[in-house]
Amino acid sequence: MKIAVSACLLGESIRFDGGHKRDRFITDELSEFAEFVPFCPEHLAFGTPRPSVHLVKGSESIRVISNKSEKDLTDALEQTSLYELTKLEAQPLCGIIFKSKSPSCGMKSAKLYLDNGMVEGKEDGIFARICRERYPLLPMEEEGRLEDAWLRENFVMQLFAYEAIEKLKTSSPNIGDLVRFHTINKFMLQSKDERLYRELGNIVANRDNLAFETLFGMYELGFKTAIARKSSIKKTRNVLEHLVGFFKNDLTKNEKEILHTQINDYTDKIIPLIVPLSTIHLYAKKYNTEYLLEQTFLSPYPKTLALRSHISSGK
Ligand code: SF4
Repeated sequence: MKIAVSACLLGESIRFDGGHKRDRFITDELSEFAEFVPFCPEHLAFGTPRPSVHLVKGSESIRVISNKSEKDLTDALEQTSLYELTKLEAQPLCGIIFKSKSPSCGMKSAKLYLDNGMVEGKEDGIFARICRERYPLLPMEEEGRLEDAWLRENFVMQLFAYEAIEKLKTSSPNIGDLVRFHTINKFMLQSKDERLYRELGNIVANRDNLAFETLFGMYELGFKTAIARKSSIKKTRNVLEHLVGFFKNDLTKNEKEILHTQINDYTDKIIPLIVPLSTIHLYAKKYNTEYLLEQTFLSPYPKTLALRSHISSGK
């Protein structure tokens, strides 16, 4: 999987002051499963070290102004941002991770100033804005937000789901492949957005006999929209209850009680999601419930990332 990342987060000494902002989750954990495509539009435009810049609200557009000389550097930064974008476009990306608060890379976290030096609010950095316009459905986050266990879990799940549909797309699929894809993603989609899950089911049913290409395009759009939604404890609880239903004729009264206690404790934020899920996984194996074992919801990403092992990964 290829993920574009602000070069300073990868430990490249490329910030305005010659430093970096290496992020251990990205470089030490995510790196096991992803290949990174670094970018730095500021280094490309002004070299390193360089005077820092800030965003100023102009009469027609947002400008990039040098903190030292007060020079307007917008054109130069836009030019290198477009160059970096072209570099990213040549890669089959599954996501982008930006450095927070940067006037180039921040996602709605770069300070926007007025002419008088007052802060007006927060905005996208120049490069982040260009990327968001170019890739409206691509998973994107900032390293700062990824410190939140819930956002991190949602983002990583989105990355792997995005990769899955991209792989399906390039495998010359037919309607059978699409039906199977939808089937194995059922509970993952329900944990994100039940309504969209149903809409996707209607698309797959193809009652209007649309050409497969049209159908796939509609499905892809809906799927990528759904996986960008955040899960919640309430939605996840519904899915867990649904999964337990698969064993209702197999489990003893005690076993059912244990499972329901685990689901309640997860809902009350006493234990993390991995506990009831592991139990469900165990029963799915014991009773050979193929339908469940294939569900991406049970294994949405490599388990060594252990993102469901934190109580705070549920909200
Ligand atoms: S422009 Fe982006 S990648 Fe370059 S140093 Fe600033 S935040 Fe990092």
